[in-house]
Order: sequence, then C-alpha cells, then structure tokens
Amino acid sequence: MKIKILGNGGFYNEGLAYNALAIDGHVLVETPPDILQSLHSQGMKPSQIDTVYISHNHGDHCFGFPFFFFNWLYAGGSDSHYEKQTELVIIGPEGLKEHLKALMRLAILPEHQYLFDFDQRVKFVEIDERSIVSTSGGLWFGFLRTKHFVPTFSLVVGKTGPDKGIPSCNDYLENAIFIYSSDTSMFDGIYKLLSSSARLILCDTNGEEDNGVHMSPRELMAAENQVRTRSSERADLSEYRLSGENDKDRVLGIHLSKKMDRAQGLKFAQPGEEYCIE
Ligand SMILES: [Zn+2]
Repeated sequence: MKIKILGNGGFYNEGLAYNALAIDGHVLVETPPDILQSLHSQGMKPSQIDTVYISHNHGDHCFGFPFFFFNWLYAGGSDSHYEKQTELVIIGPEGLKEHLKALMRLAILPEHQYLFDFDQRVKFVEIDERSIVSTSGGLWFGFLRTKHFVPTFSLVVGKTGPDKGIPSCNDYLENAIFIYSSDTSMFDGIYKLLSSSARLILCDTNGEEDNGVHMSPRELMAAENQVRTRSSERADLSEYRLSGENDKDRVLGIHLSKKMDRAQGLKFAQPGEEYCIE
C-alpha cells in the first residue's frame, strides 16, 4: 500500500497545502480548497481517482470538492470520465452528500449540469462506526468516530484477503494496515487506533500545545508510549510492531498550523512524501 502525502496543513495554517493524501494512486482522502493544486504539484491528476473519502464537512476537508469533481468529470475531452460514463465513489458521514451539493450550487449555478451529473455519476456511501466498505484495488475501509465538532470519522484501511474477505466491525482494527485519524481532540478512541495493527498512523495535531481541539504532539506521544509499554508485555504485538527501522515513526502528525519537522519526538508528514507499507 502506498500513501502519498498531498498536504499537511490544518484549518488555521501559515500557508501550508491543506491536509490531504492519496492511497495507491486512486483513492483521494479529503478534498480541501487547494486539492487541485496539491494533486498537480505531486504529479497526480483528478482523473486517476476512483474513490474519495471525506472525513467530515468542515471547509478545510471539502471546500475543494466542486473543483475536484468538475475536473474529474470533464477534463480530458473525449477521454473524460463524462464521456466514458465512469462512476466516482464518495465515502463519508451522514449529511455529506447534501453538503457537497450545496457547495457545488454555490460554486457555479444552482442549475448547472454538473449537479445533474453528480446524481448520475456518483455512488455515495454513507458510513458510521459499523460500516466496513470494500473498495477498488483490493482495499477495505473501516471507521472510528472521533471527538470533534461535527460527525467525523477516522479512516482505517486494510487489504482484502485472498478470498476477498473483509473483517467485521469488531475485528477491523486488528487487521488494519494504515490509519488516518482525521480531526480530533484526545479521547479513548486514539488508544484503540494506536493499539491497532496499523504500520502507519497519521494523526491530527496542529503541532502546538494542548488546546482541546486538536491533539498536541505531547498528548499524542504520551498515548503512543503508554500503548507501546502495554504492548511490549505482549510478545506477539511487540515483535510485530518493533520490526523494521521505520517503526519509531509509525505515528506521524498531520493537519499542522505551520511548517514543522518534529516536536516532542513526533515526526510530521510532509507534502510529497510517499510511505510504502508492505
Ligand atoms: Zn474539522
């Protein structure tokens, strides 16, 4: 699995590309206001995407959707998704579909053709904590509700088995490969994510001191150290986790307020970085 960082900035930030990433070159996670610029600056095109995940309806996660969708649909002329009648899968929480359509109406005109095309070409998958969604490319997605102002879900990603099997909502964390926490203040669910089998966990932190809205590097590393101490008492987990030279950076920060490389022992993911998880 390949995780490409497209941006690492939060709602409040000093000029960073907004928080977004791609999985295996065809899944887009978040559509912030500058998503077209971030895709193109990382050598990607909207047309590569077949699945979009949006964690919640705050503007730094979805205000770029009208521009992404317009370009996804129409760019490429006779080779466009519009001409090929391709379907785009959008996965997100309850209310997101209407929120995206409202943004599209504001972006051009209430009766613009692309609103009709949205209804025809988008398969919307509404999720909650019990959802496990099978996607293209042999992936499955599970979800954990975070502690944020609006319904927001962490994304937990794994690979379907040889028999195309997917885990249940009771054991998906034990089968996780990659996790993106999305926006959250510190809460018990973070311990669940950190205790999972995921080899890479991107966590919401604005990189600053504890503020009750986003996790601070101090809070996050304290939780990770607590989980590690617990898991080191379990041979199966410690052997699994502690193999590999990159293990110390299994947890990375994202959604920053300003450019930072590392704080309190936490490394921050940077635009352009690609993490390959075997
Ligand atoms: Zn938010």
